[in-house]
Amino acid sequence: MPHPVFLACESVTPIRRQYLKIKEAYRDSIVLFRMGDFYETFDDDARIVSRELEITLTGRNLGKNLRVPMAGVPAHSVDSYLARLVKKGHQVAICEQLSDPATSKGLVDRDVVRVITPGTVFEDSLLDPRANNYLASVAIDGEQAGLAYVDITTGEFAATELPLAGLLLELGRVAPREVLIPRSYAGVIESSDSDWNATPLDDTRFSLDRATNALLSWYRIHTLESFGCENMPLAVMAAGGIVEYLEQTRKSASVRLDSLAMYFTDQYMVLDDRARRNLELFEGGRGEQRELSLLAAVDRTRTAMGARLLRRWLGQPLLDLVALEQRLDAVASFHGDGMARGAVSTALSGTADLERIISRVVAGSVNPRELLALKSSLETLPELRERISALDPGLQWLAGELTPVPEVPGVIDASIESEPSGAVGDGGVIRRGFSERIDELKDATINARQYIASLEHKERERTGVRSLRVGYNQVFGYYIEVSKSQTDNLPDDYIRRQTLTNAERYIVPELKEYESRVLNAREQLAVEEEAAYRRVCAQVAESAAQITRAASAIAHVDVFSGLAQAATENGYVRPVLDEGPAITVKEGRHPVVERVLPVGDYVPNDVDLSNESRVLVLTGPNMAGKSTYIRQVALITLLAQIGSFVPATAAHIGLVDRIFTRVGLQDDLATGQSTFMVEMVETAAILNQATPRSLVILDEIGRGTSTYDGLSIARSVIEHIHNDPRLGCKTLFATHYHELTQLASVLPGVRNFSVAVMEEGNDVVFLHRIVPGGADKSYGVHVARLAGLPQGVVNRAWEVLSDLESGNEQGSRRTSRTTASQQLALFSVESELTDEVRALDVSNMTPMDALNKLYELQEKANRMP
Ligand code: ADP
Repeated sequence: MPHPVFLACESVTPIRRQYLKIKEAYRDSIVLFRMGDFYETFDDDARIVSRELEITLTGRNLGKNLRVPMAGVPAHSVDSYLARLVKKGHQVAICEQLSDPATSKGLVDRDVVRVITPGTVFEDSLLDPRANNYLASVAIDGEQAGLAYVDITTGEFAATELPLAGLLLELGRVAPREVLIPRSYAGVIESSDSDWNATPLDDTRFSLDRATNALLSWYRIHTLESFGCENMPLAVMAAGGIVEYLEQTRKSASVRLDSLAMYFTDQYMVLDDRARRNLELFEGGRGEQRELSLLAAVDRTRTAMGARLLRRWLGQPLLDLVALEQRLDAVASFHGDGMARGAVSTALSGTADLERIISRVVAGSVNPRELLALKSSLETLPELRERISALDPGLQWLAGELTPVPEVPGVIDASIESEPSGAVGDGGVIRRGFSERIDELKDATINARQYIASLEHKERERTGVRSLRVGYNQVFGYYIEVSKSQTDNLPDDYIRRQTLTNAERYIVPELKEYESRVLNAREQLAVEEEAAYRRVCAQVAESAAQITRAASAIAHVDVFSGLAQAATENGYVRPVLDEGPAITVKEGRHPVVERVLPVGDYVPNDVDLSNESRVLVLTGPNMAGKSTYIRQVALITLLAQIGSFVPATAAHIGLVDRIFTRVGLQDDLATGQSTFMVEMVETAAILNQATPRSLVILDEIGRGTSTYDGLSIARSVIEHIHNDPRLGCKTLFATHYHELTQLASVLPGVRNFSVAVMEEGNDVVFLHRIVPGGADKSYGVHVARLAGLPQGVVNRAWEVLSDLESGNEQGSRRTSRTTASQQLALFSVESELTDEVRALDVSNMTPMDALNKLYELQEKANRMP
């Protein structure tokens, strides 16, 4: 439908009509409409832009009685504005002037040359060098889904098919900046609590025929057989949706994609969003700091390519023993030779981001400095290859991938100045000797400029005006400036052009003649240099496939030597892997916590999980180190399954298919769910999806409700995990319900552990040592004292506690003759009181509140059976 204003108002200006026609085709985008030195936006786009970029909303008369809201940004700084709009999830269509305003008759031609969306950005300012920028696409049919994703800045392109139920999980791993989805399924993404930008497109664009054709024409092939996707129609539909979208948004700028890689999610360990967050893989600490993440603890990569690869590995651990051993062997080779590692690391520090540079070469947006960086990086390849071959004969597979691409440095060396100046077209980029024509034009501009410079001297002589000078400005070109007091006796051929306060500016015919020579030569030079530059880029682009392959090999070398470096710095060992059910770790450490503590302060701990001891119930006071311990087991497992060494003195890891976590006690306010609800949803997911090969980390389950409920749920969850043959997964259960320690006597695969505490009078010292056996008390009052609760309140709490504990003893004697469920109920009543004491927010209580609370507790205790 044409814009209503367009229909209703015959008297709009031609430029308004042109704008509306273009906007019509790009309704979903903010159209930045080039008008001279500005990009303008109109109507609703102007309102959005003014709000998002905090720039003034103005207006412009674009017809009779038609004032249109308008907001504009200067063309020279458009990149930073673009970055902000795209970061906020907007699509932006860039509409350029296609004809020269100076020479066009009537309206300047305009059209959209590119649409920038969060998933299709190329601009450095919008990209994180050490992370991928993915555009994903989804196709859905009944209960099955297809997923494809691409990073156009590196060329990576992959697709898979999976049950619809697993779609969001896999999308969570990919963490795309934008997701293309058939309009009728847009709700799938919009209802998820993710921050992906959904771009709904007509369903027909994802049809199998259309998608197949889009892929065939993109890759210029006749069949998709080589991608191995014959039986994966949904994957093809998703992938086809991507390439059509790229054609449409990137327009003339080419995108280079690797061949489409099919993969299967069951080849990898599953980590959901909760696990990634709870285990703090990429961000940790309260402020989501990167340096407190697992990634930061092991990332010693020197190149952006290596950093991105390591990040991908960490999000997608392997299940394939052979592939893992190959990675571990490579890390071990670097680990064993510090000298070689140092040399490789030095070579890598100078290596540019070949993946992104080659993509920019193909897209035509590479700059001369990047070409030079490409050249010098490629020049290091032979040496790197030598070093890798020399390091270990077992690394031949890797050395073989580091194939030098000798033609490219030669091409760049012969064509690009080693210190290029200015933009391409200014004459300072193409090296002398590369093109005769360019050299001639350069000489012509230089000669003419020199002539003009000599004119100053000549004219001073001719006129006798010593202060005369030759200058240049954009509007008048070259001029001769004479101060007002000296203008009386100027020769007749001086033509006045401009009057300033103290001076007059003139031209003479000779000056204009040389000026036009300079300008002509410069114009032609610009054309020739740009053309030569494009030819060089095209020649480099011919080697794109080899460069990409070398880049991938460099990334691998970087990750292996980086992991070896981290292992050396942090004192990690090579884990032993198999497909058995056990996880045994000697003197394991938490890789992140150990780094924030002073050296030597971290207390290492063992773990032994197997069929016979598959559920560990870990009790101990708050702050003792329970959470740290159970996470540490998960992190060691995860590191082992990316092929890294691990923080321990020995580790034997039976491969784990998924790590589940249920940790923490925060309300999920964003989605309006209560703590308890969130906790139960997460627990249900674990019970429904875990397999005997999963590793489950449960921290304080059942805490979000009353003691009765909480204890009952916690107990039945453990029983279920232990008994159900579909589960029986390795489980670490940290709890403050020390009543749960009884389970070990009833269930053969359950073992009790606790965190050792040294009690000195009324003080406790946390030893952070995990010891067999359950904790007998929770030390809540000790901890309260450590937290600075007033002494009077603490003393009274001791009294109450000792009353309660004597009641407890009676209780236990009584329960020796009761059934298990009665026993559970009784324990619950008793522990409700201790719980209440523990849950007191003492630092926010007045002494009066505290006394009242104690009184109330005592009343309750007195009422106990
Ligand atoms: P809990 O879960 O029992 O409340 P945390 O696991 O949160 O306790 O640990 C509390 C703090 O104790 C951690 O922040 C860390 O500083 C310290 N800590 C934990 N485990 C160890 C350890 N093994 N060695 C040294 N300090 C530790």
